[in-house]
Amino acid sequence: MKKLLIVLASMLVLSGCGTVPLTGRRQILLVSDQDVLSSSLTQYRDYMKTAPKSASTQWSNMVTRVGKKIADATERYLRANGLAAEVKDFSWEFNLVKDDQVNAFCMPGGKIVVYEGLMKIVSSDDELAVVLGHEVAHAVAKHSNERMSQQVLAQYGAQILNRSLSEKSAAVQKLAGTVYGIGTQVGVMLPFSRKHESEADYMGLILMKMAGYNPDVAVGFWQKMSAGTTGTVPALLSTHPSDAQRIKDIQKALPTIKANY
Ligand SMILES: [Zn+2]
Repeated sequence: MKKLLIVLASMLVLSGCGTVPLTGRRQILLVSDQDVLSSSLTQYRDYMKTAPKSASTQWSNMVTRVGKKIADATERYLRANGLAAEVKDFSWEFNLVKDDQVNAFCMPGGKIVVYEGLMKIVSSDDELAVVLGHEVAHAVAKHSNERMSQQVLAQYGAQILNRSLSEKSAAVQKLAGTVYGIGTQVGVMLPFSRKHESEADYMGLILMKMAGYNPDVAVGFWQKMSAGTTGTVPALLSTHPSDAQRIKDIQKALPTIKANY
């Protein structure tokens, strides 16, 4: 058993390891970036075919304005830190969907979707940047790849690593739906783990600061969200639990982020 575990572990190491930008956390990535991009793009396009576009020019402009600034800051950071190769994976799109859910997400490759319900709660570009910085951070940190890698391992075990590239791609395509869940669920990405959430919080604050926004509004924003202004729990919170610990972590990280970025 022990031997098997050692073999398995070394295969994992051989097949793909990454380092998360800004946090330096080591991560296991078994799926190629190309497979993640193509499978998520299929999900995204299917979803956008049926998603009704918002009629609000003012809100749409706000999403594009804030989204672009965060996208620019993200690319600047990647280029300046020897990660220019990662930039080519991003082909940014900014969408505002007519839907009262309080939600937003960013697919791998930089496909940003914001729901009108969220726009009713955000009161400034800074507050929108809190959400978009966080969502873009999930994409930059390749959290989807990590989740897909876990799914691939759970479903196929280590033998997947020995299969041909095309067999691996087919397996990933099949599993993409269970990772994203958009279209099949409520049009949201399935919940990330707590570790991924706090990492995205931390990175998101840095990205928004780099984009010229004020990260101090983050604490008040998440408090406002968890206070449940709409009477029901916002969809964003079902995937992004905003408990006291989360807010404490943000408060703790803010002074360092403001001093260093
Ligand atoms: Zn998140």
